[in-house]
Amino acid sequence: MRKLIAGNWKMNGALAANRALMEALLAGVQARSPACDVAVCPPAVYLAQLQALLQGQDAIALGAQDVSEHEAGAFTGNVAAAMLREFGVRYAIVGHSERRNYQGESDAQVALKAQRALAAGITPIVCVGETLQEREQGQTEAVVTRQLDALLECSGARVADMVLAYEPLWAIGTGHAATPQQAQEVHAALRARLRAALSVPQAAGVRILYGGSMNAANAASLLAQPDIDGGLVGGASLKAQDFLEIIAAAG
Ligand code: PEP
Repeated sequence: MRKLIAGNWKMNGALAANRALMEALLAGVQARSPACDVAVCPPAVYLAQLQALLQGQDAIALGAQDVSEHEAGAFTGNVAAAMLREFGVRYAIVGHSERRNYQGESDAQVALKAQRALAAGITPIVCVGETLQEREQGQTEAVVTRQLDALLECSGARVADMVLAYEPLWAIGTGHAATPQQAQEVHAALRARLRAALSVPQAAGVRILYGGSMNAANAASLLAQPDIDGGLVGGASLKAQDFLEIIAAAG
């Protein structure tokens, strides 16, 4: 399966810095056409700038970091999927653990956001993952299955058109990535759950990304696992050289 490497810039960026980063990334991917899909997900205020910078090429796609579960209306501060689409957005991260934690987003709300994105022609990248405490208590599989089941309940077979991202919370921004074996184990469990809910070919076609301190040094071994179909990259996506090395590791 063609892998996807998506950069989550989180709340980082500035007009001049974004331009410099994108010029370096575009030069890098043009010099060596990657055999994977690539996306960058800047803060929403920079989508228009990035849309302009990415015009006329299709090696790097544009993504958002969130999308409203509502279609339109009195939802101050929210951004609708149709609005994102107008700015050329192809992917939207939903259910990132930082939003689940700081904005109190529930499994059901995340599932609605994913459904709303898909309806507008945007591929949701739905994050699932356990805390360190949940892992230590042996609940990892139960937690990610509960999060995936909310998606299946809401969208049924359309989950086949989504991207999943396994992001253990203890690995995000800590410099301690999951080992390839730890990640593969959870990815395989997610794939098995998809197989039980969808058809076998549909389940095989769902891209399951790994996220959590992925970097230039560990990307190749993580991406070599049979059920790891790409990466959702935070910190390392802000450094052109590191992000390009991760892209190269994906093919
Ligand atoms: C993320 O925030 O999605 C992430 C994976 O961050 P980092 O790569 O910095 O751990």
